[in-house]
Amino acid sequence: MTKPVLLQMFPEELAAWLKELGQPAFRAGQVFGWLHKGAGFAEMTNLPLALREQLDQQAQANPVSVISRHRSQKEDTVKLLFSLADGHCVEGVLMRYRYGVTLCLSTQVGCRMGCSFCASTLEGLARNLSAGEMMGMVLLANAELKDDERVHNIVLMGSGEPFDNYDEVVRFLRLVSHPKGLNIGLRHISLSTCGLTEQIRRFAGEGLPVTLSVSLHAPDDALRAQMMPVARAWPMDALLDACRYYIQQTGRRVVFEYALVDGVNNQPEHARALAARLRGMQCHVNLIPLNHVPERQLRGVTRGQADAFLQALQELHISATLRREMGDDIGGACGQLRRRHLKKGADASLAVALDGTGEEKQ
Ligand code: SAH
Repeated sequence: MTKPVLLQMFPEELAAWLKELGQPAFRAGQVFGWLHKGAGFAEMTNLPLALREQLDQQAQANPVSVISRHRSQKEDTVKLLFSLADGHCVEGVLMRYRYGVTLCLSTQVGCRMGCSFCASTLEGLARNLSAGEMMGMVLLANAELKDDERVHNIVLMGSGEPFDNYDEVVRFLRLVSHPKGLNIGLRHISLSTCGLTEQIRRFAGEGLPVTLSVSLHAPDDALRAQMMPVARAWPMDALLDACRYYIQQTGRRVVFEYALVDGVNNQPEHARALAARLRGMQCHVNLIPLNHVPERQLRGVTRGQADAFLQALQELHISATLRREMGDDIGGACGQLRRRHLKKGADASLAVALDGTGEEKQ
């Protein structure tokens, strides 16, 4: 029988579980506090020794571990490869900005959304991540940082589609923002979806004031469907209606992501069509120069092309910015690091070269 993952539980659930061990309710608060500081059972020094031993035998603290770290040359980005209890691996990225550290977190192992430019989906979906696993990754990411640093912002923009793993993602958001735990402000969290329209409507009622990002990538259904199969299930009219509903219910603007692909969606007419679609909406457009994925035949844009598209949108009075590229020297695009690791695993002669610190030799 697999041991329960305590990081998966809210304090009330932890209290019910501890009650089975004959423990009083106040222990739940202590254990929750320790777990969310990243402590192992042995370090929970205000618990009786017998209970610490019992926890160690009967439960798991963090179900995730770090297998390798890849630092960008400027040291402003660290890509982490995490290993899960069943042998799967998944990635996360720490990015140092002037205003704090952002963690880009995965929500699934692989992805089944099939976007044409994305590396995460090339092998399809292996499985969903649990809330406990996502929590485990945040704690491990914190442990990678210097003493005066901690994860300040989280973007659910790693591999996977958060709304294809709705319940666990919502549980994770409530756990990571819990006042007795890490207490990361929901306003410091962004969730990015490829446009699962029913879930956008459902999420509007959760009372979770995160920033909702929606991957648009094209101004019309025909082009969007070429890039993103999800567009065949949910046309843009329905998607934008759901976004308007979200804005109206939550009072928060929606961010639209738009990956610029040379010769595909970066022409002046695309900027005009996009501006026309978004006119009057309380929204912001985040332009992302396409990160090159070797398996994909698509080309990114130059800085000049990206600036031109940005300017075209701004001249049409659409609020827009260009995302800074970080970590492209270390396989920064979604799913690239995991793929590299999987490929190496398949070829024993290329086994991952780890040294004592878990640092992968490039
Ligand atoms: N499933 C979610 C999260 C994906 S990752 C979603 O689709 O929104 C976050 C963003 O990175 C998405 O906008 C995604 O479309 C984009 N993305 C994926 N691969 C990319 C690449 N190679 N270059 C640039 N952006 C990419």
